[in-house]
Amino acid sequence: MIGIKRFESDLLSSNMYLVVEGEHAIVIDPFADTSPAQGLTVDYIFLTHEHYDHISGVNAWKKERNIPVVCSRACAERIRDPKKNLAFYFKEFCEIQTWVKLEEIPAYDPDYSCQADKVFEDEMVMEWLGHTWRLFELPGHSMGSIGILLDNGRFFSGDSLIQNCETALRLPGGSRKKWNDVSIPRLNAIPQSVRVYPGHFTDYDRVGMD
Ligand SMILES: [Zn+2]
Repeated sequence: MIGIKRFESDLLSSNMYLVVEGEHAIVIDPFADTSPAQGLTVDYIFLTHEHYDHISGVNAWKKERNIPVVCSRACAERIRDPKKNLAFYFKEFCEIQTWVKLEEIPAYDPDYSCQADKVFEDEMVMEWLGHTWRLFELPGHSMGSIGILLDNGRFFSGDSLIQNCETALRLPGGSRKKWNDVSIPRLNAIPQSVRVYPGHFTDYDRVGMD
């Protein structure tokens, strides 16, 4: 039976998820604490998008265990560059956000970059231990944003869907046009009954959302 565990980073409370099946796991949007995966074989790292708060642990996980990183091609191009993954601008971003007190944000690396191993454009379907993952591009919040659907019932939305929050489309690389033209129809095409596991805050049922 599949298990999903959520961990909150100190960097703007971004969520890291560990999806566990038996002795195996997939980690989504890792921060640097690898201890939740102790005793497990981690098969993949999935990235919902390129922003620094969602990728800050990729190098720590890869250093400890050589785990392939999977993301969109647009995300892969941006995580390599601290200006495009926004690590370089993280201080400024922290100053304009309102949900975490500045003094609670820990030291971070403004030169951070990392690398992907397996990239896709548009959509990719992966079978994993009897489960089906569907990863598909959802541009709007960022160029490299994707949605990650597990067994047509659980949806890892990154920063594209967060409960009670309007999707942030105005960061560098964001696009309201792509969000409206490409991503909204894709979101409308997934089952309305999915449970959403967002990039920040807790999971929720999509039913009843507009
Ligand atoms: Zn983001």
